[in-house]
Amino acid sequence: MARISALPGFARAVRHERELHRHERFDRARLDEHQRRALARIVAHARARSPFYRDLYAAHGVDEQTPLHALPPVDKSDLMERFDDWVTDPRVTLARAQHHLSSASQGLLGDKFVVASSGGSSRRPGVFVFDPNEWDVVSAIALRASRWCGFTPRLPRRRVAFIHAPGAQHMADRVSRTLELGIHRSQRLAATQPTDELVATLNEFQPTALVGYASVIALLAAQQIDGQLKIAPSGVLTDGEPRSAEITNRIRTAWGSEPFDLYAVTETGGGLALDCQAHDGRHVYEDTTIVEVVDADDRPVPDGNRGHHLLITNLFCRTQPYIRYRLSDMTAYHPGTCSCGLAFRRLEPIEGRHDDILELPGRAGTTVHLHPTVFAPLFTLDGVAELEVVQRGRQLQIAVVPRSSTDSDAVVGRVRQHAAATLERYGCDTQPQTLLVSHLTRHPIAGKIKLVRREIDQQQPGPGQQ
Ligand SMILES: [Zn+2]
Repeated sequence: MARISALPGFARAVRHERELHRHERFDRARLDEHQRRALARIVAHARARSPFYRDLYAAHGVDEQTPLHALPPVDKSDLMERFDDWVTDPRVTLARAQHHLSSASQGLLGDKFVVASSGGSSRRPGVFVFDPNEWDVVSAIALRASRWCGFTPRLPRRRVAFIHAPGAQHMADRVSRTLELGIHRSQRLAATQPTDELVATLNEFQPTALVGYASVIALLAAQQIDGQLKIAPSGVLTDGEPRSAEITNRIRTAWGSEPFDLYAVTETGGGLALDCQAHDGRHVYEDTTIVEVVDADDRPVPDGNRGHHLLITNLFCRTQPYIRYRLSDMTAYHPGTCSCGLAFRRLEPIEGRHDDILELPGRAGTTVHLHPTVFAPLFTLDGVAELEVVQRGRQLQIAVVPRSSTDSDAVVGRVRQHAAATLERYGCDTQPQTLLVSHLTRHPIAGKIKLVRREIDQQQPGPGQQ
């Protein structure tokens, strides 16, 4: 069976990356033209090869001449329900792809397709299939991220530690395996491993670059500050989860460098937006993806205003076309242009998902809606290592992991007092429940933690962010 991570694949990725590099010199007009042409090609391909899109576009009377904003958006549930009609290659079916994933094979489906799963943080994990050309672009996008972060090849080779979901089927893992032949020595760690184990392995490996979920990197930064972890990475890249200002500060304190933040979505082949050396917003990879920030009715919102969700259009995935695909992440476009001169527009930090907004009982029988960022100050309280805010029914429960060598009861007391004052200020008619814990439970498959969330019928909402 054919395997990925072969040298020819790496060489092709390098060639594609040169092409991506060339796009970074485009001005706005050239980029708009590039997007228009790529969109027309992908819409024409979807109409010709995907029964799902053929039916949808026929019903709406649209085609490849139609401007982007007039194309009907699609949801994950629509695509997954009609998976076999959605994909454009009859050799790929949901049953085959799922069988391939469950066999834990590292080979290619039908000797051709790379199959990956999302982290599984949603009840219905996504299934993602890439043909060799698509996979080359995915790999090139990862190389671009290395270049932007300054993780350029050198001798002796850089040592990069990746901390993501466990398992070779996960997208981040597959990308790192494809690339490790060429440029870096890599160490892959699972976000679900106990902290002591992560610390011991990293102390041994001594990474020169650290890449992983924001919550895990935050935990490791605390370990570094407290003296258990002793590493000196010259670069830190977080991904997979929203990163708060508090986490950013903690990383600066721990390792003295400004961390990069990759916004990655498995559907778009991993990387979707990344900050440049100016660290003033994340530049969307506009040559490979179109990102629309829209209101609840899918209408664009002005730059600087937070949208209700995003519409993602992937410009290179032809096996599974994503055209105006709804993602519940909330963010805004940064107004103006970046000092680095790149024409790619910039996204503000992701503020969580609209389905993360908490709904708590208010005074006089009302319902109070609270955005996750309302609780951001709790994470900066003295003595807090980690913290999780969960709405269960009408209750707000806060699990607190105190820093070592602190008075845990005092830390929990501070959190309770601060949270109660916050709820009071927003007119909530409920008291927070606090809980002292030694660690937070990560999602068993994804290895992620959603720090502020609402639990409805045990469902973990949200489509496949990596
Ligand atoms: Zn920039």
